[in-house]
Amino acid sequence: MKAHINGAWVETKDKIEVVNPFDQSVIDTVPRCGPDEVDRALAGAVEGAKIMKSTTGYDRSQMLRRVAVRMNEMVDELARTISMEEGKILAEARTEVTRAAEVIDLSADEAKRLGGEVLPLDGAPGGAGRLGFTLRVPCGVVLAITPFNFPLNLVCHKVGPALAGGNAVVIKPATDTPLSALKFVEILLECGFPPLAVSCLTGAGSKVGDPLAADPRVRKISFTGSRDVGEHICKVAGLKKVTMELGSNSPLIVMDDADLERVAEATVATGFANAGQVCISTQRVIAVKKVYGDLLDVLAPKVAALTTGDQLKDGTKVGPMVRTADAERVSEWIDEAVAGGARVVTGGERDGACITPMVVADVKADMRISYDEIFGPAVAAISASNIDEAIALANDTRYGLSAGVFTSDLNNAVRFAREIESGNIHINWGPQWRADLMPYGGLKESGMGKEGPKYVIDEMTEMKTGYTTGN
Ligand code: NAD
Repeated sequence: MKAHINGAWVETKDKIEVVNPFDQSVIDTVPRCGPDEVDRALAGAVEGAKIMKSTTGYDRSQMLRRVAVRMNEMVDELARTISMEEGKILAEARTEVTRAAEVIDLSADEAKRLGGEVLPLDGAPGGAGRLGFTLRVPCGVVLAITPFNFPLNLVCHKVGPALAGGNAVVIKPATDTPLSALKFVEILLECGFPPLAVSCLTGAGSKVGDPLAADPRVRKISFTGSRDVGEHICKVAGLKKVTMELGSNSPLIVMDDADLERVAEATVATGFANAGQVCISTQRVIAVKKVYGDLLDVLAPKVAALTTGDQLKDGTKVGPMVRTADAERVSEWIDEAVAGGARVVTGGERDGACITPMVVADVKADMRISYDEIFGPAVAAISASNIDEAIALANDTRYGLSAGVFTSDLNNAVRFAREIESGNIHINWGPQWRADLMPYGGLKESGMGKEGPKYVIDEMTEMKTGYTTGN
C-alpha cells in the first residue's frame, strides 16, 4: 500500500515489508518515509487544518457516522488485515473492528456537542454587568502515534475525536502493522473527509515519529505505546499538548472467598487474549495463601487447553506474538525467573513467534516478570498473606493502568477500589476489559490524560475564555 501525504497517495524507493508473524510471509510493502515525507505531510496538514476549521460540527458528525457504517460493512476484510499483520486470531480481530467502528460512532456524537459554559460574572468582585463564556476551538494539527497491538482501534481512538474536534490529523502507525491504518484512511476519504485533513506516514519511529513529535506545526500529540518511547516523546515535544497511554503489568488480586472457577476463567480471558499483548493484560495474579495452591490447580489445565498457532485457522485460541524477537525476550525473562526460584506450571514451548501460554508460579516481587511489563502470553502467580500484602504487592510497580480483585466481601472490594494505584479497576473480573464510552487512562507511569471520545474531546480542542460587558 502507499502512504497518504499532503493529500495524495505516495510511494518511496525504499520499502518496508509487512510480514505475517506466524510464518514470516510477506503480506505487502509500504513506503519507508523519512524527513522529506514528514515535511510534506506537515505542510499539507497545516492547510488541512484550515479546511477542517471551516467545516461544521454537523458535517463532521455525518462523515464520521458514514465511516462507522462503512467499517462495519468491511468487517471481514479489515479483520483479516489486522489478523495477518498483527497475529491476533480472527475472532479477536473482528471484535477490534466492531469496537473501532463504535469509537468512531461515539466520536460522531462529540462533533455535535463541542459546548462551553456561560458564567455570570457578578460572582466576581467588580464583575457586575459582565458575562463570561467559554468556546472550544480546534487545536490545528494533531499527531497520532500508535502501537502495534490494536492497529485499527487505537488509531480510531485518536483520529475519531481529533476529526470530531475539527482538526487535521497526521497518523504514524506502528512500523510493523500499518495496513489496517492505511485502509482506515481510505475509508475516511471515501466518506468525505478532505484529503489534506488526514495523512498517514509509514516508517520507523525514530525516523518519522520523532521529527513529527518535535515539529512546532504539530499542536497536540496523542501517543499510545511503551513507557520509554512515551517519555522520549515528551522530551522532544516541547510546548505541545500531550496525551500519553503507556504500559502496565496489571495485577489481579484473589481473596479466599473468591469463586476459583470464575477466577481461572477470567485469568484465561484477560491474560492471554492477543497472546498477552494487551496493555491491560492480567500479568500478575496475586492470591492469598489459603487459595494459592488450589487456584493453580484450577487454572493450569484451562491454560494448557489453549490451542496455539496459526491465527487464521479455526480453533486457534492464541496466535503468534508480533515479532519472533519478542517471543525470545519473553522466554529469557521466564528463564531468569526460574533461575531465581520460580517454576513454570504450564506452557512456555516456543516455535518462532509462537509461545504456548504460560503460568509461572512462586514469582517474587524482585523478578522482572513481576515488576516490568512482559507483554506476552505469561501470567505470574504470586502468593500473599492477606489483603494488606496483596494490595502492597499490586502497587509495588511504577505502572498503574488497570487492576482487578475477586472477592465476595464488600469491604475488601471497597478497600481495593480506594487503595489500588490504578486508573481502571475491576471488581470480580480481570483487569483486561474496557468500554469505549467510559474514560480510560493510567496513573503513575502508565500515562497522562484520559481517552474515550467523550473525555478526550477536551484534549483535542483548545478552550478560549471570553468576557462581555453588558451595556
Ligand atoms: P512502542 O512504544 O515501541 O511504539 C509505539 C509507537 O511509537 C510506534 O508507532 C513506534 O513506531 C513509535 N515510536 C518508536 N520510537 C519512536 C520515537 N523515537 N519517536 C516517535 N515515535 C516512536 O510500542 P509498541 O511495541 O508498538 O506497543 C506496545 C506498548 O504499547 C506496550 O508498552 C503497551 O502497554 C502499550 N500500549 C498501551 C496502551 C494504553 O492504552 N495504555 C494500549 C496499547 C498499547
